[in-house]
Amino acid sequence: MNALPPPSKKSLAALASTMPEGTLLTADADMERYCKDWSGDHFGTPMAVARPQNTTEVSSLLRYCHEAGIPVVPQGGLTGLVGAAVAAPGGKELVVSLERMNKVRSINPIDFAMVVEAGCILEDAKRAAEASDCILPITFGAQGSCRIGGNVATNAGGFNVLRYGMTRDLVLGLEVVLSDGRIWNGLKTLRKDNRGYDIKQMFIGSEGTLGIVTAASFKLFPKPTQVETALVGLRSVEDAMTLYAKARRECSDLLTAFELILRVGIDIALKARPDFIDPLSEPYPVYVLIEASAGGRIDLAAILQDFLGDAGDLVQDGVLATSRAQAERLWLLRETLVESQGNGGRYLRTDVSVPISKLADFVADTLEALSEHHPEALAVTYGHVGDGNLHLNVIPPKGSTPDAMELLFHQTEEIIFDIVDRYGGSISAEHGIGRVKQQAYLDRIDEVTLDIASRLKDAFDPKHILSDGRILRPAALPGDR
Ligand SMILES: Cc1cc2nc3c(=O)[nH]c(=O)nc-3n(C[C@H](O)[C@H](O)[C@H](O)COP(=O)(O)OP(=O)(O)OC[C@H]3O[C@@H](n4cnc5c(N)ncnc54)[C@H](O)[C@@H]3O)c2cc1C
Repeated sequence: MNALPPPSKKSLAALASTMPEGTLLTADADMERYCKDWSGDHFGTPMAVARPQNTTEVSSLLRYCHEAGIPVVPQGGLTGLVGAAVAAPGGKELVVSLERMNKVRSINPIDFAMVVEAGCILEDAKRAAEASDCILPITFGAQGSCRIGGNVATNAGGFNVLRYGMTRDLVLGLEVVLSDGRIWNGLKTLRKDNRGYDIKQMFIGSEGTLGIVTAASFKLFPKPTQVETALVGLRSVEDAMTLYAKARRECSDLLTAFELILRVGIDIALKARPDFIDPLSEPYPVYVLIEASAGGRIDLAAILQDFLGDAGDLVQDGVLATSRAQAERLWLLRETLVESQGNGGRYLRTDVSVPISKLADFVADTLEALSEHHPEALAVTYGHVGDGNLHLNVIPPKGSTPDAMELLFHQTEEIIFDIVDRYGGSISAEHGIGRVKQQAYLDRIDEVTLDIASRLKDAFDPKHILSDGRILRPAALPGDR
């Protein structure tokens, strides 16, 4: 596979002429907001930004790019955390933003299904579902900015995976434009369909490398009429995991979230928001934010109250929210931690997973190794531990030079990933590979997996025009297969 030649000014002008006016942005000032992602760590230099309004426009755009050899990067809300949605340096990639394709096409509360365009902001899709007394259960901090196509392309998880699964478990069908411009219409809302291969699954989590998602249909669930939220203080991660298993069994599997936060995370949130008060009467090494929800004729508050009351000395102290506002304040603590941990600067983000049964040992081993080798850095640990998923982030000391930071990130990531390997875990449970984790991913996959992945890429995108260099190496570099 040879590298694609850079597109010429002539081909750009020809591309613009195939689209309605205003669809293609080429001025630096117009393109600025498509060049930087949420983390602020990744900046893109696109050759241009296309903003199609419908699937037909995406199709003609890709047909043209395929023929002309123009590399393309689909873009959603730019909240992805692996540098995949911004254009590569060099001004050779065309960003295709789906932001103008933002309609909810249909909701059917009897089918418990909705069809949404790829550029719809997740929160807008969730609101639309709620207006029909249903929920779309993909829930996380970036839901006010991320878009449905990005959620599908990253197989997004979040707080409620525990009960409802990842995006992969919630997608019923997809509409995708293939690299040569053909439209694959797999947009059905059937619950059961065993005809041949399940092609939609290839695109879910493919990070824009196999096709551009233009719409998705999702499973919906009845909107819970009762939601209970509690924050409890514990002695150790081990106790948190014992509490988790007990809660699943004793609360009729009604948990919708089980979030672990080590004390350092609470301190970060309290420092960032001096108006917050310490949530419990004294500090504890470990906190768990528990949410349970239900509809129908059960007394959920009594179930959770009894459960926490009977938890013996596992739970040192706790608060059960008595109002929606109080519950929101507890969640805000978690959100504030995520947003303020880097204090505006760079830090190492990880999103690893290990078997749930091994999580407590994994945390203990990793924190010990980090403090032994890098006592100068601050390790922040929190995550969706009901899914075995942890964010183990590393904040550099104040005043670190860029070079010192790079070295620290590299060394601490190696420490964390080596321990993940020892525990049979995954170096990415949520954010994907993109460009940031590519080397670590390629270092760990076996020959057969690499061969299958490379053949998939060749089959869906023979000219490698789609998000080349994300997940797998760019076509031009030797050694990618
Ligand atoms: C504060 C915060 C909290 C987060 N919490 C979580 C969490 O709990 N769980 C979790 O899983 N993630 C989380 N994330 C990561 C991120 O929000 C998700 O990965 C999200 O799904 C990305 O959506 P997006 O629209 O922003 O995609 P973008 O960042 O724009 O793109 C992400 C990837 O998808 C591709 N893509 C985008 N649109 C399309 C399309 N239409 N067709 C094909 N490919 C496309 C891009 O090329 C890129 O590879 C969090 C991020 C932030 C900033």
